[in-house]
Amino acid sequence: MGDPMSRRTMIKSVGLGALAMAAGGQVAASQEAHGADMASIATPVPYELPPLPYPYNALSPAIDEKIVRIHHDMHHAGYVKGLNTTLEALALARAAGDMSAIRSLSRDLAFFGSGHLLHSLYWQSMSPGDSTGPEGRLLDAIEGGFGSFGAFRQQFLAAAKEVEASGWGLLVYEPAGARLLILQAERHEDLTIWGVRPLLACDVWEHAYYLQYENRRGAYVDGFFGLIDWPSAQTRFDMLAP
Ligand code: MN
Repeated sequence: MGDPMSRRTMIKSVGLGALAMAAGGQVAASQEAHGADMASIATPVPYELPPLPYPYNALSPAIDEKIVRIHHDMHHAGYVKGLNTTLEALALARAAGDMSAIRSLSRDLAFFGSGHLLHSLYWQSMSPGDSTGPEGRLLDAIEGGFGSFGAFRQQFLAAAKEVEASGWGLLVYEPAGARLLILQAERHEDLTIWGVRPLLACDVWEHAYYLQYENRRGAYVDGFFGLIDWPSAQTRFDMLAP
């Protein structure tokens, strides 16, 4: 992963995987075509605004055409633009060896990245006409996880309605426990991007290092980096991005 070419390929793969999950193969395919002529790490493969999967007025009367038009064409587009701007700024920072803005850039990456992926999922979460209700394996999982569809509905509606300030109500699949959960999200993110799957984790809570390093978190992180099990990271990467 040391040379610029493989690093660029990895960035592209990660972006494609996340988009493929949230936005479907059509977007991933067009992004791949776009990526073929990208020349260097300094210009990351940009994310693209997925087209609305139905006409602007298709969700009326539940959601008016004017809201959908502004929400997709301005708000969602703004997250995509902010995400691409942040990726460019990160590429420039790496090229310059200047990590002084890493906190604000990481916050921007999570905010705009989660905003983009959640909006992509939001548009795909609805379709024109009356909802038919879940069937098959999804219905089984909902009934198994929440007791009944009615019990799921009660919790989902309460969670979405009771999000404090701005945010989202989400039905999620939690792969480690192989189960469905209902979550609230405030804003879009808490410094993560919805849909990512971690490959490496460095615990920087004080309990992970304080008895040995006291307040020298940096020395502990350096020590952690020297212990990284790259073959296991490779195994996880191969499973997620075949
Ligand atoms: Mn929105």
